[in-house]
Amino acid sequence: MAKIGINLQKGKIDNQNDHEVIIGIDLGTTNSLVAYIDHCSNSPVCISNEGSKNLVPSVVHFGENGEIIIGEAAKKMLEINPSRTIFSAKRLMGKSYNDISHYSDFFSYNIIDDNTESLVKVNIDQKFYTPIELSSFILKELKHIAEIKLGKSITKVVITVPAYFNDSQRQATKDAGKLAGLDVLRIVNEPTAASLAYGIGLSPDEEKTIAVYDLGGGTFDISILSIQQGVFEVLATNGNTFLGGDDIDKVITEHWKSKYAIEINDQHSQQTIRLLAEQCKKLLSSNDNFEATFQTKTVALTRAEFDQLIAPIIAETISCCEKALKDANVQIGQIDEVLMVGGSTRTPAIKEAVGKFFNKTVNDQLNPDEVVALGAAVQANILAGNQKDILLLDITPLSLGIETMGGLMDVIIPRNSKIPIRAGRSYTTSKDGQTQLKISVYQGERDLIKDNRKLAEFILAGIPSMPAGLPKVEIQFLINADGILTVKAKELRSGVESSIEVKPQYGLSDSDVERMLLESLEHAKEDMHIRALTESVTEAKQMIEVTEKFLATHHVLLNETEIEATKAKIESLRKELTNTDRHIIQQSIEDLNQFTRPFAERVMDWAIGESMRGKKISD
Ligand code: AMP
Repeated sequence: MAKIGINLQKGKIDNQNDHEVIIGIDLGTTNSLVAYIDHCSNSPVCISNEGSKNLVPSVVHFGENGEIIIGEAAKKMLEINPSRTIFSAKRLMGKSYNDISHYSDFFSYNIIDDNTESLVKVNIDQKFYTPIELSSFILKELKHIAEIKLGKSITKVVITVPAYFNDSQRQATKDAGKLAGLDVLRIVNEPTAASLAYGIGLSPDEEKTIAVYDLGGGTFDISILSIQQGVFEVLATNGNTFLGGDDIDKVITEHWKSKYAIEINDQHSQQTIRLLAEQCKKLLSSNDNFEATFQTKTVALTRAEFDQLIAPIIAETISCCEKALKDANVQIGQIDEVLMVGGSTRTPAIKEAVGKFFNKTVNDQLNPDEVVALGAAVQANILAGNQKDILLLDITPLSLGIETMGGLMDVIIPRNSKIPIRAGRSYTTSKDGQTQLKISVYQGERDLIKDNRKLAEFILAGIPSMPAGLPKVEIQFLINADGILTVKAKELRSGVESSIEVKPQYGLSDSDVERMLLESLEHAKEDMHIRALTESVTEAKQMIEVTEKFLATHHVLLNETEIEATKAKIESLRKELTNTDRHIIQQSIEDLNQFTRPFAERVMDWAIGESMRGKKISD
């Protein structure tokens, strides 16, 4: 029997059949997909477009007459008009020209490099497009496909991103959604989505450690996830952003060229042989032999030859798996499930090698092209309130903190912290009457901020004028479930506050993160020394300032010899400010401190005397 719900607030009958549909989108480097939960079967399904294909190539073509073409039709233009056809826009998300300069040859379109520090743009005619706009065109197309299929307007969406995407890349993906007229309810990690598609992590008492092996057309990712009580935590990720099925096609092409003495002199033949190689690879996933004709020559490949050819590629992915396990501090025996994602995992030799490495039969029942989108739909359904909410946890790849006196990094959220996370610390002013405080946010592992990466800077103004050290400024860092950082500063005595949402100017690649970590290890000893020295110099400067202030206000309490001796000690400490031996600085601080300590007692006695003066002792 159907149930009819009455909405007491609106006084209307709720139509149970008219569920709000939130779609899940896998915004891929090569292909994108959209999925939703079919309420008849209560299972996720991918939505196909008119050509009855689920995959929408992530390609945008700008026609000569201003028309914008997306998907399969745009992919066809890749060869005909490469300079007006944009592929792999996902690789540009949140990146500066500096970030991509070493592989800019990979793109056949015009990437602008007017300012190497700012975000990349693509130039078509006289117009400049950001990767956010380009992705928004693809998202709009997917929204359109879903609206046609479901017969209703779609506004809410869950979008997946690689687990290693940083703040700026996640923010860029959210912005692309917004630009496409979509409300992005959640950014979900691709391996988490794959896990949800397999139904892993949906039951609250489930505890599992899983590996998600994702080999697509152009990228490879391995992620190790821990799932506990519906909480997903990415323990580690590894991979290669330029390794995938395309490389397998290349290996076959090169093999044929040398074996059959094939000469390729033009773009068209190059494309034909590449497509033939891809066809061969796909066929060998279910057959033992491939044979075809290319330029009057017979080209052939057996499964055994193919397996041998791709062995180095497989070995590279396995070595990434080893590194990921090591980073996650997980033993092979602790992995409960291995999920296969991405079209290239259809190759039997790959399944076999991965299964052998993890000592486990891999999960490959779901279509590896669709699994991420299906999982995004499961998460969308959870957010639509159709299933109890499940927290998605991530980790911060690098420490986050602020600059303190002497250019030191003060870490507020250490690297590898689980997110969402909130952390805070109190600070104060260093000068009397200081009414504003500059807060500079940094990311990195080094002790000096100059060696780390600046994310943002803002000013907390309007602090009432007070002596140094009296204002209490609470700085809060908050990283939400999407991995976006908000920094808030509040002066607790006056209540003035200011905050900033960190949208870093340009992103970091996984290799940058790795480099920053390696550098921090390499320089650990030297950094420790510099930190200790900087702290001593800062302390010495403060000591000089305080003592000079003391002399100026309380000189009447000191005799001439004492004043001169204090000044001499201040000068000798000042001379040591440039010393590189912190022990000598510390010695000099202690010397001044010892000498002035009795004066401080004199001031205390004097102050007590002053406060008693004129006061009656009550009887
Ligand atoms: P994706 O980026 O996940 O869409 O992966 C696409 C990649 O999967 C391309 O390199 C395809 O050539 C590859 N692929 C698709 N089907 C097969 C198959 N049957 N066997 C091997 N590779 C395949």
